[in-house]
Amino acid sequence: MSAATPRSTFYTPSGMVPPTAWILVVTILIPISAIAGMLYSAGIVHVPMVKLRWIGSVGLGWVIGILAAKVCRVGKVRSPLFTIATVTLGFLVAYYSAWGIHRTLLVLGKVNAANPAMFALQGFLPNEIASWMSVLVKNGNAEGITGFALIVVWLIELGSIAYFTKSSFETVWDDRPFCEACDQWNDPAESLLQLPVSPDDPAWQSVREGWLDSIRKLKIKENANETVAVTLSSCPHCDRSHFLTASGIGWQTNAAGEAKFIETKIFQFMSVTPAQITELKNLSELLDEAYQELNEEPDEPDEPDEPLVSEQA
Ligand SMILES: [Zn+2]
Repeated sequence: MSAATPRSTFYTPSGMVPPTAWILVVTILIPISAIAGMLYSAGIVHVPMVKLRWIGSVGLGWVIGILAAKVCRVGKVRSPLFTIATVTLGFLVAYYSAWGIHRTLLVLGKVNAANPAMFALQGFLPNEIASWMSVLVKNGNAEGITGFALIVVWLIELGSIAYFTKSSFETVWDDRPFCEACDQWNDPAESLLQLPVSPDDPAWQSVREGWLDSIRKLKIKENANETVAVTLSSCPHCDRSHFLTASGIGWQTNAAGEAKFIETKIFQFMSVTPAQITELKNLSELLDEAYQELNEEPDEPDEPDEPLVSEQA
């Protein structure tokens, strides 16, 4: 081991937005979001039940969230701001289109529009949407809900579409690093170590500073409902883009006795070398052997606060 002070470096996205990403937003994200919004509108007009509206908002959020994540992934977007703007834009286009087509879907068969196409197109104008909304508030929607109650229904609908868009986006968009040298995404994070230690162990501080060896000094927490997962995300084509993440995962019981799953990041995307990865993999094997031995010798007196691995020469 060298005596030099290690300096850890962490992945930060470069902020690059290639032209492809802009093209995908215009040619894929906007049109599909608009169509999805109109299909959603058709769904709730033809099945006008509040309960089904909820299912519809799950479906619409799911489509927009996944679509936005795919566009950013394929478009190689390394700007967090651009990804947020993309998913927000998809959501707004879908929601606006749902309102834009709503009047046409609901009343075109009942009114004598001189030019049905023009009537449909006009429905997309902001002032037409606003006046259509006030007509509904005044006279009630298909289910006969009027006034303030209707506005509440709309707000819940808006909130649930936004919520499901966000959660499906986050599921697909896993925030993995991008290898600038190879111009491609790293592989998704793989589990490297599962440690029965606390995420608050003081030894993490020196691990975070780049002293990976300090992992061996972490104290084993027996019977703890917390563990720390160490994961690795690597570029499939080169040795320059390996990033380590450590997060505490576990169940915590609150005052009401409800178990709640919690995840705390200890550090995210610390740059590591192939040699360091080999060391961590060796450590993982060592720990597996140690656990097997522990399981073979039950009822040993508890020795809390034992280091993960005893000091070695
Ligand atoms: Zn690479």
